[in-house]
Amino acid sequence: MKMTKVAVLGAGINGLACAVKIKEKYPDVDVTIFSNDFTPNTTGDGSGGLWNPYLCGNTPKDLLTKWGIETFQYLHKLWKEGGYDICLMPMYELIRKERELPQHSWANQVFGYRTMGQKQLDFLSRFGVKYVAGRTFTTFVVYPPTILAHLYDRFNKANGNVVQAKLSSLEDPRLQDYDVVINCTGLGARDLVPDTNVFPIRGHIMRMNASWINYSVVDEDTGHYIIPNVNNCVIGGTHQENDYSYNLNEEDTKFITNGCQELIPGLKNAELLRHWVGLRPGRNEIRLEAENKDGKLYIHNYGHGGSGLTLFWGCSSDVLEIFEKHMKVEKQHVKSKL
Ligand SMILES: Cc1cc2nc3c(=O)[nH]c(=O)nc-3n(C[C@H](O)[C@H](O)[C@H](O)COP(=O)(O)OP(=O)(O)OC[C@H]3O[C@@H](n4cnc5c(N)ncnc54)[C@H](O)[C@@H]3O)c2cc1C
Repeated sequence: MKMTKVAVLGAGINGLACAVKIKEKYPDVDVTIFSNDFTPNTTGDGSGGLWNPYLCGNTPKDLLTKWGIETFQYLHKLWKEGGYDICLMPMYELIRKERELPQHSWANQVFGYRTMGQKQLDFLSRFGVKYVAGRTFTTFVVYPPTILAHLYDRFNKANGNVVQAKLSSLEDPRLQDYDVVINCTGLGARDLVPDTNVFPIRGHIMRMNASWINYSVVDEDTGHYIIPNVNNCVIGGTHQENDYSYNLNEEDTKFITNGCQELIPGLKNAELLRHWVGLRPGRNEIRLEAENKDGKLYIHNYGHGGSGLTLFWGCSSDVLEIFEKHMKVEKQHVKSKL
């Protein structure tokens, strides 16, 4: 019987997770990743690495919970094993203006989720900004290049193939021989598919040397956040829709610096290590679905906005499930022909 050939487009966190899941479970399937960039140069490599569903458009809450919690549990497994630059830390979501806070659909499945009481709010308001409400839970922060390198190594060890290439369409002749194409091209899907629902959400962050900070905090009203990881501390951020610029600008730098120093004033004495600008793959909702076209199965898995590191493992399970259903149908098809 002819060997099934799978092309995974994109070597970001989502492409790697799908490629690893399929190649490790089905060693006889020929899996090739085609990608323009590889770790440490993908969007996920530069990201904050915080587990926290964020900027995913109108993706249904039940799916966010399913994908997010499976990823949370996977990070927990790696954290227990040790050696992956993942830490477990408190996270505070703070609110300045009184309003009703909808409950997060995943709240009762993460560690220690609760609405903060007055005492804790007073403590977190001690630097001057008065917070009127907030939620807290304990979550994972990964140092992204480590987890991307880990998945890349796993794929290599499983004898996966890798091709460095920028494809201009899903009909690219290099994909001709593949039975299944898994599209994890993030923002690239806008031109590749093409899908005009995909748009950039520009984010500028700074990495600081501030090893004395050991909790993550997000100001829900200004969008500022502080996310320490095992190697440095990320401060951010901006969320500029439809902005394709990778250039730094003074206005954003001031916005981030001033806002994060309001949250933790001691940051003014921390050493700045580097700036980074990335484009989140925004979409009205994450696209994870099968499409049959010209005798080929396409599985789309893109548009993860600000949550690629929060959802990747759960999303790759759904991709695997679609792939397995397809294999089953193909097998029956071959049997019925015999
Ligand atoms: C400032 C910032 C902070 C963030 N912080 C967090 C956070 O704390 N937690 C979190 O969960 N998420 C965070 N994110 C979001 C996260 O980075 C993205 O959701 C994630 O990177 C999406 O992963 P992906 O694999 O789908 O896409 P990408 O990482 O963008 O990878 C896409 C891959 O496809 C390839 N590709 C694209 N087009 C083509 C083509 N035509 N041909 C060949 N290859 C192609 C690219 O080269 C790349 O390898 C942040 C993002 C930014 C910008």
